[in-house]
Amino acid sequence: MEFNPSRELALKLDAEDPLRPFRDAFIMPERDGKQQTYFLGNSLGMQPKKTNAYLQKILQDWSSLGVESFFHAKEPWMDYHDRLTGPLATILGAKQQEIVVMNSLTVNLHLMLVSFYRPAAKRYKIICEARAFPSDQYSFETHVKHHGFDPEKTVIEVHPREGENTLRTEDIIATIREHGDETALVLFGGINYYSGQLFDIAAITKAAHDAGAYAGFDLAHAAGNVALQLHDWYVDFACWCNYKYLNGGPGAIGGAFIHQNHHGKHLPRFAGWWGYDKATRFKMEKGFKPMAGAEGWQSSTPSILLYASLRASLEIFAEAGWENIQSKREKLNDYLWYRLRSVQEAKPDLFSIITPGDPDARGCQVSLLVQQNGKALYDELMQKGFIVDWREPNVIRLAPVPLYNSYLEIWGLTQVLIGE
Ligand SMILES: *Cc1c(COP(=O)(O)O)cnc(C)c1O
Repeated sequence: MEFNPSRELALKLDAEDPLRPFRDAFIMPERDGKQQTYFLGNSLGMQPKKTNAYLQKILQDWSSLGVESFFHAKEPWMDYHDRLTGPLATILGAKQQEIVVMNSLTVNLHLMLVSFYRPAAKRYKIICEARAFPSDQYSFETHVKHHGFDPEKTVIEVHPREGENTLRTEDIIATIREHGDETALVLFGGINYYSGQLFDIAAITKAAHDAGAYAGFDLAHAAGNVALQLHDWYVDFACWCNYKYLNGGPGAIGGAFIHQNHHGKHLPRFAGWWGYDKATRFKMEKGFKPMAGAEGWQSSTPSILLYASLRASLEIFAEAGWENIQSKREKLNDYLWYRLRSVQEAKPDLFSIITPGDPDARGCQVSLLVQQNGKALYDELMQKGFIVDWREPNVIRLAPVPLYNSYLEIWGLTQVLIGE
């Protein structure tokens, strides 16, 4: 696609955009009566207009039927989970029974580590990216200690090479090989929250398996953003939050994927009654019998309100079509990169881009490393109505999202960077 710097092109791209109507499915933020441009769907996705009605329905069921709603509401709460796993399976490239919606991300990460990090005297190391999200770092550290190992010698971080900001797949694979026999688990983000780098999940999984280790992924910044094939890639497990690209609302209920190959094997887990075989759960018998698939990792009664909030968003994904969303994501980001490159040509000293330029190594997010006075530039963008993210010491993160951002918004933001 050939781009040009004109505002007319941005307008034309918007007019031709088949997903344009979906912006209207969301409530966009306003300040002093003026609509703002929201580029932070990577942090907290916008609220679908439907969310309110779906929450109201649950409140109505509750007030009119009480606990009977689990079985006798028009949309029985007992089956509500199935409304979520279908659309999520498409988004994650999974089978429906490999997906469970429960808890929140960090809690699910801990639960997955219980099942998939079982260090032995010879095989005990965890290999991960340097600068992983703090929750990930703390979960590794505390599991390692829980098993009586020393985090310093057990958690192996792969660092970028000198002078580089992102990781090379070859270096990740070489590290896994180097620690081969001693590696129990390889756990990476899908997309690093800071750099926006999309890792080669298939290659990392294969290298982990070749070494005899499990491969797990924290997909907080990948789920609902990029195309994934968790089942076909043989990823052992993954977890993600549903409030970033998936618009489930603040503190949304989280998600986990457990590959079919692990179903029915009675992997160790911290069990509760909600993971018990659904047909006989209410007999309340002694001795834990898990549900067959990923749902067998549930422990507590889920929040139906949080289910309802997530459903509102997942229905928009299903209606828009995941492939259409992916096509727009690619084009929208190609346009953003074209515009950012133009800014760099005009103002070579303003910023560098730490996110990989390779379209296969990034999703929606771009992280700009601002050379000087980054905070002032951030303040100017915010003041002009562009909601972006500031990370100390000098990084501005922004993410145009295919369901509700436009080409014109990207044009407008980059005009500010150019200084117009
Ligand atoms: C956002 C994010 C989290 C947040 O975890 P919560 O348990 O939902 O607070 C964890 N890990 C990564 C990589 C994230 O980007």
